[in-house]
Amino acid sequence: MKIAVFPGSFDPITNGHCDIIARALPLFDKIIIAIGRNSDKRYMFSLEERMQFIRSTYADEPKIEVVEYEGMTVDFCHSVGASFMLRGLRNPADFEFEKAIAQTNRRLAPDVETVFLLTSSGYSFISSSIVREILAYNGDVSELTPAAVYTYIEKEKQ
Ligand code: ADP
Repeated sequence: MKIAVFPGSFDPITNGHCDIIARALPLFDKIIIAIGRNSDKRYMFSLEERMQFIRSTYADEPKIEVVEYEGMTVDFCHSVGASFMLRGLRNPADFEFEKAIAQTNRRLAPDVETVFLLTSSGYSFISSSIVREILAYNGDVSELTPAAVYTYIEKEKQ
């Protein structure tokens, strides 16, 4: 069984993440979307909110699981029997950053292969941080996130 872990903060999940997930689905038997717990980071959405956004977005997709994890991503991959780690690439800055992480991870765990998918061009400008910034000013993010995110925010405002 080909299992991939897609690790990230998903604060919140965006159409950019969804593009990578949609394109990875035919490649793997199971994709575990893994939300890393990082005590140094300040999040806009709680872990429960971030998980719920992803769960509702993929409620009808049996190949997708959503979990949280703590510690090193390669250790988490081993614990769930995943041989692949999925990452998205938007631009040269992502590439430089991801290259260092992937090469380090390969040293730590040569049995876990990092698979990069290049974002579709219409999504490469989207990031969770841009979404958070728009939300901070009460802007409309419905073009940038799945419905689970923006309907929740609309409800919160009422
Ligand atoms: P992290 O804290 O690990 O950067 P993110 O949730 O921001 O967590 O990103 C998780 C993964 O999704 C990373 O591989 C990132 O490059 C990818 N990603 C984020 N936004 C996009 C996008 N718009 N297009 C493609 N990949 C993306």
